[in-house]
Amino acid sequence: MKVPELSIKYLIALIFIPMFFVYGCSVNNDKTLPEKELASGEWQFDGHLGDYIDNIATNRILDTTNWKSIYPETEDAFGLKEDDKNYPKSGQWRGEFWGKYMLSVIAAAKYYKSDELKERIAVAVQGLLSHMDENGYLGTYAHSDFVVGNNWNVWSRKYTLWGLLESWELLQNPEILDAAKKFTNQLISEVGPGKVDIIRTGNFYGMPSTSILYPIVKLYNATGEKKYLDYAKYIVKQWEQHPDGLPDILNNGLRKKPVHTWFPQTDSYKWAKGYEFTSCVEGLVELYKVTRTEDYLKAAKNIHEVLVKYERTPVGSVSFNDKFIGSAGLINTLSEICDVVYWNRLSFELYTLTGENKYVEEMERSLYNSLLCAFNKEGTWGLRRLRTSNIHIPATNHFLNHHQCCTDNLPRGLFQAAEFALMKRNDNEIYLALFNEGTGDILLKNKKVRFAIKGDFVSESKINTTISLDKPMSFELHIRVPSWSNKTSFKINNKVYSNQVTNNWMVIDREWNNGDCIEIMFDIQLRWETFKPELFDSTFHSIDYYNKEWAKMKFGIGSYELNNSIYKHVIALNNSDALPQQKALTFFYGPIALSRDIRVSGEDIFSPIAEPKNIDKISVKLIDAPADIWKVFEVVDEGNDQIIRFCDFSSAGNTWDKNSLFNTWCILK
Ligand SMILES: [Zn+2]
Repeated sequence: MKVPELSIKYLIALIFIPMFFVYGCSVNNDKTLPEKELASGEWQFDGHLGDYIDNIATNRILDTTNWKSIYPETEDAFGLKEDDKNYPKSGQWRGEFWGKYMLSVIAAAKYYKSDELKERIAVAVQGLLSHMDENGYLGTYAHSDFVVGNNWNVWSRKYTLWGLLESWELLQNPEILDAAKKFTNQLISEVGPGKVDIIRTGNFYGMPSTSILYPIVKLYNATGEKKYLDYAKYIVKQWEQHPDGLPDILNNGLRKKPVHTWFPQTDSYKWAKGYEFTSCVEGLVELYKVTRTEDYLKAAKNIHEVLVKYERTPVGSVSFNDKFIGSAGLINTLSEICDVVYWNRLSFELYTLTGENKYVEEMERSLYNSLLCAFNKEGTWGLRRLRTSNIHIPATNHFLNHHQCCTDNLPRGLFQAAEFALMKRNDNEIYLALFNEGTGDILLKNKKVRFAIKGDFVSESKINTTISLDKPMSFELHIRVPSWSNKTSFKINNKVYSNQVTNNWMVIDREWNNGDCIEIMFDIQLRWETFKPELFDSTFHSIDYYNKEWAKMKFGIGSYELNNSIYKHVIALNNSDALPQQKALTFFYGPIALSRDIRVSGEDIFSPIAEPKNIDKISVKLIDAPADIWKVFEVVDEGNDQIIRFCDFSSAGNTWDKNSLFNTWCILK
């Protein structure tokens, strides 16, 4: 799908939205911080990644026939108000889907610049608001004040508020912002200072509820009304006021404690719940952008760092079965797709503030591995739990036939890649962070600069980037130098360009002309990451416990018969299918993790391999891939006299049955 001209509204947004975030930034003692944060341009992917995104967007969002099945039930839930039918015992989460789904739809409207989709969003918002009570309450609980106990009332409202605010940003209809204010004022009248404290609402130590911090900061940015800023600060303070002493995100983050060690209880609703936690941290960074309270940023950076070390798998997923329990120390992992999406959101927030390559590397790793494998080939439905071996577990619908958290979150996670592909800072610096084929525009000094990337960097180890401009323009072009390339070299208009690489960025400061072509050449070698069993922390459970949990996960029968019939074959594995907790390697080519899949590697995908000794005796080449597999790699290790065939992790297991049995960690002999 090609990029049409920039809409006037989007141009205005590009100019003004970053300005919202600049005020209040005079106190900034961290010398590593840029004067301003990075701001997104526009990007559309081509190639395999672009096709993957288009397929999902078409089936889940753009197709008008599918929309008529998928959208209405999210809105109907606000009329039915069934989420507290077990009142006062417990509450459910139908209320999250309008917002979650709409956030993906809004991201699609921006990505495709679709006026038709914008019209649909406008109608949807009006439909939703028709359910708002006089006092501003808008929810899927019959009892708006049923907030304490095991329920998801405030959490669901978080997504409604967030969806309303992004709808307002897109449509610029002041009535939507007024509705968002009324909605929030009603919430504050029940949940807040002098009322029920937000940390006591819902489950998981108030984390799902308090993750409303992010849209509350957004509301403050949109209105400038101090009461919303006060409410945001109140939420941060609330984290340290739960009777159990958790989650205490700011203080524990400042101490840089591994997240799993904060949460000693393993009972239901007591563990470190993956993306609910990460979403709170994202809100903290958003609040930092307003207050410039250095501790907020420091805590968030620390948390990101410990999550990389203790929770992130080689394929860029985080958590074990939606729990931060030190997953990086387990060879058999199960990861929720929502956790990956929000992991990328946190990395993105920190990238925009710091410009540091390490955050891009995290996003790129998740994008090309976990996110690229999260949906079925038909583009209609997603995974609930991602494994790194055997078989993935498809999502079971939650209450509504066409919705489940991961399935609704994933499209937005993909569109976010377009937000960091091409960015700018200070109106004279452009940042090119990804190398995937595609086209994008960015405005510098109100003038459009267009970038077009051609070439498959994985297969060809190079790309060509062409710049289109109306008139010659001087600016700094910062091109990321990825850590997966041993040597990255550049040519501008066929002449070799060399300059010092600083912090993984090549900066080219010159006057650019229409048609200038930059060739970027990579030296990609096979590399590997080693599993470290010693990272495992048995404070909470034994290895045996986790392996059993890993094996027993299956497709759960839901209320949607069609999915039940398609996925009922995904049953529990045997405990003996778990890999042994011992030294193992995951191989990589560029940002892509490699897996053995029986379709390309033969039946013996679990057999131990000899440890590679001499990198000079190892070669890797891409060979023809069968249908439904993106890339196949043949690794020849002459030092060990072994040849192993792999495919990209995202293609491995993509039939979601035994026909594509796969394995990513290679146990060493
Ligand atoms: Zn999910």
